[in-house]
Amino acid sequence: MINQLIEWQTLSDQQKISVLARPAIADSALLSTQVANILTQVKTKGDQAILTLTEQFDGIALDTLAVSAEQVAAAKKALSPKRLAAIQTAYDQIKAFHSAQTASDITVETRPGVTCTLKTEAIESVGLYIPAGSAPLPSTVLMLGVPAQIAKCDRVVLVCPPDKNGQLANEILAAADLCGINEIYTVGGAQAIAALAYGTQSIPAVNKVFGPGNRYVTEAKKQLSQQVAGFAIDMPAGPSEVLVIGDASANPAFIAADLLSQAEHGADSQVILLSDSELLLNAVSAELSKQVDVLSRRDIALAALEQSRLILTKNLAQAVEVSNLYGPEHLIIQTDNATTLLKALRNAGSIFVGAYTPESAGDYASGTNHVLPTYGYSKVISSLSLADFSRRFTVQELTKDGLASLAECIIELTDAEGLDAHQRAVTIRLDDDSASQSNK
Ligand code: NAD
Repeated sequence: MINQLIEWQTLSDQQKISVLARPAIADSALLSTQVANILTQVKTKGDQAILTLTEQFDGIALDTLAVSAEQVAAAKKALSPKRLAAIQTAYDQIKAFHSAQTASDITVETRPGVTCTLKTEAIESVGLYIPAGSAPLPSTVLMLGVPAQIAKCDRVVLVCPPDKNGQLANEILAAADLCGINEIYTVGGAQAIAALAYGTQSIPAVNKVFGPGNRYVTEAKKQLSQQVAGFAIDMPAGPSEVLVIGDASANPAFIAADLLSQAEHGADSQVILLSDSELLLNAVSAELSKQVDVLSRRDIALAALEQSRLILTKNLAQAVEVSNLYGPEHLIIQTDNATTLLKALRNAGSIFVGAYTPESAGDYASGTNHVLPTYGYSKVISSLSLADFSRRFTVQELTKDGLASLAECIIELTDAEGLDAHQRAVTIRLDDDSASQSNK
């Protein structure tokens, strides 16, 4: 439980750094070796290694990895109309927000006869990792599957760890079906990411893998993106985190509920509350003790609260400074002047403004993506969007006159760089009289 208020003003520079430090990953050298070992097994033995590792880590001996169309149909049939309708509503909302992100090609004639175009094309094949170790996450299927569908990636492959019976949750299969995904494999952990990077007899390699996961999954993504040429990952994602800025006007029960909704994700989740009101901080602390007791994941939430912080700031401007320093994955603002604060807030994966905007709205159904940079990466990495499922490249076409009009500039700069062949590639064309009139 968070039992101590921290007064930001009284901290030394060193203490400020340690108060905002993320929980360290224990035994990172051991983790790196364990994961490297799993990757080698999958690379050398393919499906056979996957089946062995699944038995070892997921406790189930599987005959096959692929999920059939019949299994998907049965899963949809087994769900209540109410559950299916909720999945459909979330899908529609996420689709509305992500469809609006579609990029158009941009063509500019930078000078007469010189035409430059920026084109956007879908990444050909993508892999979606859906975590399911402690709980299956159909919401993550939608967050990854909807943009992949809108981007029109040629191949979309979904991987997810099997439950104790070797199955995937019905909700996962129903959400995948809605996103038009028909290549689904029951495999999780580092071995799933390795299969997507190397390819195995039954799982095809893809160009880019998306999705959150535990430390084995995250470490595998990190190692494979450095080792396998042309294999990309969405972002380095660590344990989930939320930072709330509240003032005396905020409802402490709302804030405690928000902090707990993040804490229940995992023991390594981090939650921080910043306020200029000692009264609010104490009221939230009391609410946390009250609300945590009724949670089904009470023990997980309590463990997460151990490394969480209630911080008293001099004023709200200082709270904004601290938040910018931390760069939270989720940032909730529950203050009177939320819009003014918004202007000064620079680093956050996703911002939730006002008393009626819980993080849960964005986690499931408002329309924004819930795959967000953690560990302070919000300072440099964006929240997941449609753009991540595509790549941009340029096309240019010059007429002879267009090239001639740039020749003086190019010749001068190639002289400066001593690159004669570059210069000749221009002069050889301008000295050539055979060019057709149509290319004038
Ligand atoms: P998971 O699917 O990521 O991991 C389960 C797999 O881990 C298993 O299939 C197993 O193969 C492997 N594994 C388990 N123990 C192992 C061991 N000792 N050695 C090697 N491999 C092992 O599911 P999870 O564990 O529930 O983790 C999900 C994570 O995703 C949580 O940390 C959660 O916070 C995070 N998450 C983050 C976001 C985000 O947007 N940042 C969203 C949802 C979930």
